Amino acid sequence: MAARQPGALTPGLRQVPVPAPDLETIVSLAKRRGFVFPSAEIYGGFANAYDYGPLGVELKRNIREAWWRSMVQERDDVVGLDAALITNPLVWVGSGHVANFTDPLVDCKRCQRRFRADHLEEGAYGEVPRDANGNPLCPYDGGELTEPRQFNMMFRTQVGPVADEANMAYLPPETAQGIFVNFVNVQQAMRRKLPFGIAQTRVSFRNEITPGRFIFRTLEFEQMEMEYFCMPPRDRDNPTEYLALHRQWVEERLRWYIEVIGIAPERLRLRDHDRDELSHYSAATTDIEYLFPWGWGELEGIAARTDFDLSSHAKLSGQPLTYFDEETGQHVIPWVIEPAAGLTRTLAVVLLDAYSEEPDEKGEKRVVLKFKPRLAPIKVAVLPLSKNDALRPTARRVYDMLRPLWMTQYDETQSIGRRYRRQDEIGTPCCVTIDFQTVGEDGQPGDDCVTIRDRDTQEQVRVPISGLVAALEERVPRC
Ligand code: ATP
Repeated sequence: MAARQPGALTPGLRQVPVPAPDLETIVSLAKRRGFVFPSAEIYGGFANAYDYGPLGVELKRNIREAWWRSMVQERDDVVGLDAALITNPLVWVGSGHVANFTDPLVDCKRCQRRFRADHLEEGAYGEVPRDANGNPLCPYDGGELTEPRQFNMMFRTQVGPVADEANMAYLPPETAQGIFVNFVNVQQAMRRKLPFGIAQTRVSFRNEITPGRFIFRTLEFEQMEMEYFCMPPRDRDNPTEYLALHRQWVEERLRWYIEVIGIAPERLRLRDHDRDELSHYSAATTDIEYLFPWGWGELEGIAARTDFDLSSHAKLSGQPLTYFDEETGQHVIPWVIEPAAGLTRTLAVVLLDAYSEEPDEKGEKRVVLKFKPRLAPIKVAVLPLSKNDALRPTARRVYDMLRPLWMTQYDETQSIGRRYRRQDEIGTPCCVTIDFQTVGEDGQPGDDCVTIRDRDTQEQVRVPISGLVAALEERVPRC
């Protein structure tokens, strides 16, 4: 597919953004069809925690694999890593998280509820009541709020049998630091020359207190991050080539969401951080944002982090985290570009963006999740026309032939029309139907052909069973 230009890169020509469907529709479909369940629902649930059901786990795996394929497998200059989650707490001192990974929190003096001050202003709670001076009040009971206090978002835990400060460790709030502390190991083991990247997908934890809006913001979430190490710029104050590399990565990541993941370009935009929003060490940061039902929100941040992380870890550990440049004969500290994406947040976007409702031939509502075939949790459904015993052996033979190649589902319950709807609603790209013409009837031999029905066009084509794999391969990638 040719890439359509996203709205934010074509100012003036921008299409009117179309917001995604309302969140309730997606939350209810996600639960009903086994994508995402509220966590520990039998105990009343748990704020900002969700479980991924049988289809959610497949969708998550497919997004992760699509990212890994684009970022590692199909590139010469990026390798993978899987670093420990619980590690030496000094990592989080060196990275600056112990001192700075904080959010401004306010408490309601009446009901004691706690809020992030910036989220109150950004509309996470809708329109908040205000006092005579325009200061926000508690969105629940209008109570007065305390002055903001900084609150560290990392979870702490104890390692070993003694519960004291010396044995304290952190749950990782991002994946990047495992990459920085392994920079020299990876560079030397793989004999890499700059520029090169190290990629990692992993779970991260943040003590989020703002209501999460489904899986947009959760306590535990998966991230897909890559640190791209390059030569330091000649002029630190005017790093033109470095900023151009940052721009290249921004465009590459935007292309990925549009072409590989299939997100509608009119619901994506780029937002450059203002000077006062940038961290002190960052030369530039651009967010890829999606038009959620409640407005634009971050999907991925691409940060030009300079040499901040390697320098900080080198300083605290006393170990040089440098690269030997053979051309100049000097040891240099590489500069870094970091595209940091949320896997579970992308999953929310994929569900929202794929949702479509259209009338069927009887004028009834047909719900379809129009996933890119590569992402669909179930690629092929094998559906005998009815439960009739004459159809089953051939249908099972077809099913057994396909399941080693694709995630395949077998379903013979209820009418064929209902079963097509069920597969549409979970985004299955192809249904394969076995009927009496396939197996033969009234003493007549069958033609050994089956029908492939396309999810999006609902077109049906008949193909011989011997050519079925080749016909499906044209429609769904093998994965
Ligand atoms: P936000 O401003 O939404 O809190 P952030 O700027 O703190 O996000 P980063 O630290 O840049 O996020 O993390 C990279 C990506 O990880 C985000 O773009 C997002 O997709 C994802 N992410 C961050 N926090 C969460 C969370 N609590 N739940 C789900 N995904 C998250």
